[in-house]
Amino acid sequence: MQSSPQPFIVFAAPDIHEAEIEEVVACMRSGWLGTGPRVARFEAEFAAYKGVKPSQVAGLNSCTAALHIAMVALRLEPGSEVITTPLTFCATANAIIHAGLVPVLADVDPETQNIDPSAIEAAITPRTSAILPVHFAGRPCEMDRIMQIANKHGLAVIEDCAHAIETEYKGQRAGTFGDFGCFSFYVTKNVVTGEGGMILARDEAKMARARVLSLHGMSKDAWHRFGDKGYKHYQVVESGFKYNMMDLQAAIGIHQLARVEASWRRRREIWGYYQQALAALPLRLPAPDAPDTRHAYHLYTVMVDEAESGVGRDGFLDRMHGQGVGTGVHYLSLAEHPYYQDRFGWRPHEWPHAMEIGRQTVSLPLSPKLADVDQHRVTEAVRRALG
Ligand SMILES: *Cc1c(COP(=O)(O)O)cnc(C)c1O
Repeated sequence: MQSSPQPFIVFAAPDIHEAEIEEVVACMRSGWLGTGPRVARFEAEFAAYKGVKPSQVAGLNSCTAALHIAMVALRLEPGSEVITTPLTFCATANAIIHAGLVPVLADVDPETQNIDPSAIEAAITPRTSAILPVHFAGRPCEMDRIMQIANKHGLAVIEDCAHAIETEYKGQRAGTFGDFGCFSFYVTKNVVTGEGGMILARDEAKMARARVLSLHGMSKDAWHRFGDKGYKHYQVVESGFKYNMMDLQAAIGIHQLARVEASWRRRREIWGYYQQALAALPLRLPAPDAPDTRHAYHLYTVMVDEAESGVGRDGFLDRMHGQGVGTGVHYLSLAEHPYYQDRFGWRPHEWPHAMEIGRQTVSLPLSPKLADVDQHRVTEAVRRALG
């Protein structure tokens, strides 16, 4: 038993360094807080990291915004169906709905917890217009099969890369397979700007439309037409949105992105430690990495099965919290939520793998901020919380 209380281990604590703090202060002192030079620099550096041109990306105020304008920019037929996974954050489905489209769920593979390509094929109807895979926890989806299915049926692909900045599949970076890739810099994600996101497009014309949509539908062409003397009029060419990223956010992101690989290596170390330290316990651990892929190690999830573990998932969460360890649940199946049940008639048992995972899964702390003593405290807390 501990003799003195230890500090609470926050789940997914952001790792903020002096460089970010100084850059935010410099941004404030510059007087330029909105979209400007720091966003342009962050976009260029993000594009370089993903191996694409700066004209293929745009900084936005969230991944939800990126998902939304990706689907609007693709001009998908209103009311058509978008196939996605039930094991995701609600923003994935909400963005589909906001774009005037209908989410259709395809169950996950019970091992990888990613959307199962066979389930995608089974969910295709004459109304299907797009597939929206989520690289869950940072593990890449089976992009070869997903792109084959999309090409065969003439479907668009939008990748939800909220967990997957560092992810690669057969040497290709996540977010560069589909028409669009959407990234999140929310406080719990691998690169943080507070709130923030990035959209990446394979096609520069589609990206140009997404950019216009992200800022009120205002055309940049006006700048050229009116030259550089006198007042420059803009023209509204679409009914757009207010989704642009601020320099204040990019000031944080520039330095977070500079450390993206170092943070990834630290999370990989913690992941390896958990795999070893928890191997003998009555829990199901994450599947080994697939060959020729790079996992982003965003979430470390274990399955707590009451029959095997001697404690239910929610009881386990309480026991972890009681020992000062923050945890997460990623995710209850989307079909568990009343809004989607009422609107689409979804019932959890229709996607049994996602239902079972959602009722058993627990995410353990996995942040570069976690010290060696903390990771040991986490695994000891897991040991005590069981049975
Ligand atoms: C966090 C998250 C989002 C939303 O990201 P925001 O930047 O907060 O809008 C979307 N999809 C998944 C899978 C996420 O984890």
